Parts: sequence; structure tokens; C-alpha cells
Amino acid sequence: MMDVFFIERDPYAPLRHCYPVSKILYEGKSEYQEIMVIESPHFGRVLILDGVAQCDEKFEFIYHEFISHIPLYAHPNPENVLIIGGGDGGALREVLKHKEVKRAVLVDIDKQVIEVSKSFFPTMSVAFEDPRAIVVNEDGYKYVQDYEQEFDVIIVDSTDPVGFAHVLTTEEFFRYVFRALKEDGIYVGQTESIHYHPDIVRRVQKSLKKVFPIVDLYTAVIPGYAGYWWSFSIASKKHPVRNPSREVSVQTKLYSADMHRHAFLPESFYQKLISGEYQV
Ligand code: SAM
Repeated sequence: MMDVFFIERDPYAPLRHCYPVSKILYEGKSEYQEIMVIESPHFGRVLILDGVAQCDEKFEFIYHEFISHIPLYAHPNPENVLIIGGGDGGALREVLKHKEVKRAVLVDIDKQVIEVSKSFFPTMSVAFEDPRAIVVNEDGYKYVQDYEQEFDVIIVDSTDPVGFAHVLTTEEFFRYVFRALKEDGIYVGQTESIHYHPDIVRRVQKSLKKVFPIVDLYTAVIPGYAGYWWSFSIASKKHPVRNPSREVSVQTKLYSADMHRHAFLPESFYQKLISGEYQV
């Protein structure tokens, strides 16, 4: 029997991940992107958009726990949450573990990603059935412009910042996000790999600092992402973010109050990284 492999087409990474394929479960093209689902012996099912692995059944919990629980626990009472992107449903699942959350709006431009996730990733897409979940298929850049002082937390769980996702990393977008957040709101967005994409990390941090009084960066090790040391840019209108503001009670595999604190970079290295002093 011939071995079959899927080789990523990551536009940024200086290397290509290669997944052994035991089965191709889905292949299609939406109005926005190519969508593929493979079964891989070690990773389980893998969701692939435009040739780039987005999440896999084995390790998706790490990314989804860190992009959700750090901003939500930094906030004392997150009732209204907006997720831009996140069509796989993983971040929504983690957000709705918080009993404080009364409403979670998920805005993904591509309806087909949500449908594919519901069909092939039942553990990740389970929260779409929660009555507190509201799904909108629209460009998040446009959606957020219609709101003022509406959300407690805004999470941007988008694809790599190229094409229709690029706008989600611009200063204009961050100004709309600032306005859509309540006076003590918190924003977080995935900002790629510390070592393969330092320019993106620096660009986003610089733009956020023009808009928000509190800006910071935390990281997690994501086994399926190029460079593995993945970053999340966080910005707050009022609350400090480096510690949980409430007792941690949601069920998680990795996230905890200690992991929250340790996810943030030591101040000295953070300054070296965003100033460009740290070069590789
Ligand atoms: N965790 C993954 C990552 O970091 O690479 C992201 C996964 S999630 C599936 C990414 C989603 O962002 C996709 O479903 C894509 O359709 C959505 N997306 C990209 N740009 C968008 C935009 N401008 N507005 C709304 N959704 C967008």
C-alpha cells in the first residue's frame, strides 16, 4: 500500500509540515478558501484551509484554551463575548464553559468551515448547539464597525493574516474593536510564531499600543503550528491581564491560574522582542 502524505503550503513558514494521511475525509472549495479534512495517525482529524493546518483533534485544546481563558479570566465578569473567525468552534466551546457568559457571537466569514466542522469535528463544534451561541457569516472587519460599548471580550481566532484575514491585524480594525468593547473590555488575537513571524508580532503590538492603554503578549506551544512557540497579542481598556481576576473553575486540560501567569513573557524579553533588539 502506497504511503500518502499531506505537505502544508504555509505562506510564511521557512519549513513545511508533512502529515501522514490515513484517509482524506473531505475536500472542497468555498467562496473564500480551499477546505480539507484528513485523518492522520498521530494527530487524528486535521482541518486544513488553503493548504495550512488550522487545528487537529489531538492538540487543538491547547490553542483554544489559551486564546479563550486568558482574556476571559482577566475580565472580572465577561457576559458578552465576540469571536471573529473560529469557525471550527473550539474557542466557542471554551468560552461557553464560563457560566458568566450570557451571549457569545461567532462571526466567521465562511459558512462552509462551520458546516465541515459540525460534520467532522464533533468535540470541537459541540458548542454551536448552546442556546447562548449566535453565529453570523460576515467579514469580522465589517461586523465590528456596527457596535459601540457592546462586548466585554473580543477574540480574533483567524487564519494567517493574508488575504481576507489581513484586515484583522490593522490599526483601523483595532480602533473599531476598541469602540465595540465596553469601557473595561479586553481584546485578544493570535499573532503567529515568535521566531518565524517576529515582524507580524511587532507590527500588531505597535498598532495596538496606539489604541489601547494596556497591551501585552503571551505564548503557548502549539505542536501543529510552524515554529511551535505561538503568540497571542492581548489588549485591555482597564483591567490588568497577567493574572486571573477570578477563581479559576472551568474544566480544562492545560489552562490553570499558574499557566495563565507563566504564559506571559518576562518583561525584559517582551521589551527586547517588540523593540526589535532580540533578533535571530
Ligand atoms: N486556529 C487557527 C489558526 O490560528 O490558524 C484558526 C482557525 S479558524 C478555522 C480561522 C477562521 O477565520 C476561518 O474559518 C476563516 O474563515 C476565518 N476568517 C478569516 N478572515 C476572516 C474575516 N475577515 N472575518 C471573519 N472570519 C474570518
